[in-house]
Amino acid sequence: FIDLRGIRKSFGRVEVLKGVDYTVRQGSVSCLIGPSGSGKSTLLRCINSLEQPEEGEIWVDGALIGKRTEKDDYRALDEREIAGQRASIGMVFQQFNLFPHMTALENVMVGPQWVKGEDRTRAKRRALELLERVSLGERAHHYPAELSGGQQQRVAIARALSMQPKAMLFDEPTSALDPELVGEVLTVMKDLANGGMTMIVVTHEMSFAREVADHVAFMDAGVIVEEGHPRTVLSSPRSERARDFLSRV
Ligand code: ATP
Ligand code: MG
Repeated sequence: FIDLRGIRKSFGRVEVLKGVDYTVRQGSVSCLIGPSGSGKSTLLRCINSLEQPEEGEIWVDGALIGKRTEKDDYRALDEREIAGQRASIGMVFQQFNLFPHMTALENVMVGPQWVKGEDRTRAKRRALELLERVSLGERAHHYPAELSGGQQQRVAIARALSMQPKAMLFDEPTSALDPELVGEVLTVMKDLANGGMTMIVVTHEMSFAREVADHVAFMDAGVIVEEGHPRTVLSSPRSERARDFLSRV
């Protein structure tokens, strides 16, 4: 469903992704783990067209990211088409990135209204449903500054869901949170996983990886070194590098 083949990406002379192959099945949850600087965020950013790899192919639900595939015409997509693809893949960042001058409700309405051209009444109704789903119905009219970090992150998840994405990418969604707020965000992510959403989650929460993930991929120095069932990868890693990393987290 998400299928990466031979992805290479450099910044200047530094090659950050060195030929990544990675597959996530439809409806499954893959946790991407690995040391700082190994390329995890860069990989997610490539899937969401925030970065363009120099080599390799990224397929999501049968569509080639950044390229047109009809009639063997591999022309690059234009800005507008890329924006459309990006909207079909939800992304949640460590920093919640909500619009500070908009209420929770407006943050969740803005995508469907302005990107998809949905009418206001419908966008509002759906945004309220999504806020209910992340247990924030009561906070719809609060501004980000009036919400806790955990609440802001749940709004960010609702906002990503408002575009009806085919898959969701999470980049350390709980790393900026006080420990007591981590659980409420993980609960929302767990519900989403149980609902059948295809997800890639970069995280240091090994308990989440153990309980929720169907698959774990360990990345180091720009390649996926080891992957498989969470039990196998987390409890009895084959590679020295994964063993070393896991003994430290
Ligand atoms: P962390 O766990 O700290 O978030 P990561 O695995 O997400 O690390 P990346 O953020 O993907 O790692 O970065 C991989 C490497 O690419 C790092 O060495 C980083 O400095 C470099 N890098 C990332 N983005 C850029 C950029 N826009 N310009 C130059 N170098 C970059
Ligand atoms: Mg990162």
